[in-house]
Amino acid sequence: MGKIAQLHRLLETKKISCKELTEAYLRAIEADNKALNAYVRITPDTALQAACAVDKKIAAGEAICLLEGIPMTLKDNISTRGMETACCSRILQGYVPIYDAFVWQELKARNAVLLGKANMDEFAMGSTCENSCYGGAKNPRNLTHVSGGSSGGAASAVGGNLAVYGLGSDTGGSIRQPASFCGLVGLKPTYGAVSRFGLVAFASSLDQIGPITQDAEDAAIVFDAISGKDPQDSTSCGSEEPAVPGLSKSLSGLRVGIAEEYFEGIRGDVKASLEQAISVFREMGAELVPVGLPSIRYALPVYYILACAEASSNLGRYDGIRYGYQAAGYSSIHDMICRTRSEGFGAEVKRRILLGTYVLSSGYYDAYYKKAQKLRGAVIQDFTEAFSRCDMILAPTVPMTAFESGSAGQRDAVETYLTDICTVPVNIAGIPAVSVPCGLDGEGLPIGMQLIGNHFRERTILNAARQYEEATGRVWIRSAEMGVKL
Ligand code: GLN
Repeated sequence: MGKIAQLHRLLETKKISCKELTEAYLRAIEADNKALNAYVRITPDTALQAACAVDKKIAAGEAICLLEGIPMTLKDNISTRGMETACCSRILQGYVPIYDAFVWQELKARNAVLLGKANMDEFAMGSTCENSCYGGAKNPRNLTHVSGGSSGGAASAVGGNLAVYGLGSDTGGSIRQPASFCGLVGLKPTYGAVSRFGLVAFASSLDQIGPITQDAEDAAIVFDAISGKDPQDSTSCGSEEPAVPGLSKSLSGLRVGIAEEYFEGIRGDVKASLEQAISVFREMGAELVPVGLPSIRYALPVYYILACAEASSNLGRYDGIRYGYQAAGYSSIHDMICRTRSEGFGAEVKRRILLGTYVLSSGYYDAYYKKAQKLRGAVIQDFTEAFSRCDMILAPTVPMTAFESGSAGQRDAVETYLTDICTVPVNIAGIPAVSVPCGLDGEGLPIGMQLIGNHFRERTILNAARQYEEATGRVWIRSAEMGVKL
């Protein structure tokens, strides 16, 4: 049984009240958040209010659903009405949304206990969480290492037992990569399965919200709750089938695609773990099928051109007038906007706005943006062809394990971008993928594998993840020595 179901049972049978459960998490946050820096804003009032409502329902003998009363966190780019949502950026300090994101509306309706907003790279741009204006979150498996990014705070909170689950966003790997670095499960749903309404936009054609959890069952439970068609997001269409009812299907005869392109440049120990995982799938009766994905070799530059182009447009709205921060002294409106943006955005966000503006400028548009769009078509084509021959593709999530904190100065930007090489193809194609822990490196840092599905096949990949966890006895899912353990 997953952690959500276990806690649900404790609540339902009155072994623990929701208030007690919530207070235990708040105490743990008080004790351990200084070390982890997972939360950037803690919301005890909201949490206890929801807990109270759940306790009243239980006392009245009313049924509660699985997510009711379960303590959780939201990445700081998911809008919460009446509660600051700053994307961990100086430019959004003090911005309080007047509406809730669709995903939060859905969870609030289920009396989810929101403990606070989770740390992230500024505007979700980064792979270490260190681009946050609050400083980076730490890896609960090893506090001297980063938790990954950009949803690093949510992964740090869930891995450190300071939340049962978290919602992150994934534009190029920001759910799967921190999940992999922290030994957790992270699901990037199909583009359109989950509404983006109320998610602060980074790159609108790639962004998708999804869960970070301790196991596949929990990921399926949260996915089923937050997916759905929403008229407020014209690209949303919901999911085809709920994932939870499909979690006990045998993998016998499942065709698992292996693409050699995904294994190029992968660190030796990561590759060895993946090979072991592949043999577990073979033992479970899966049929291994070689597939070719030649165009994913171009996925990284395609991603960085398209994501920066879209970001340069999306971030145009932060002008010092409509949202948050405004420079203190200025001589004209132009000067005010210039100063606000220079002071409000961090270095990585500025770099991306500049790159994005460049690739969209006349004279360079054809050479960069248009070419990247064409290659996006080729990546989609490759996946379509691969999925005509297999049901799921198995690949590494990240070519390496978590970096040491503060080592950013020793890497150039490109080296950091290289961590995204295995995660971005899925966003380019709009298909779903889940990262599942599959090993540890010599230092005990987690290694993750990606199970990639065709459009709307969350059920297939989550079931495969679940079967893998069962077959390996969940040995790779380890709990950190901190936070609430129940
Ligand atoms: N690490 C990638 C980037 O920096 C992905 C970010 C994301 O998925 N939000 O763009």
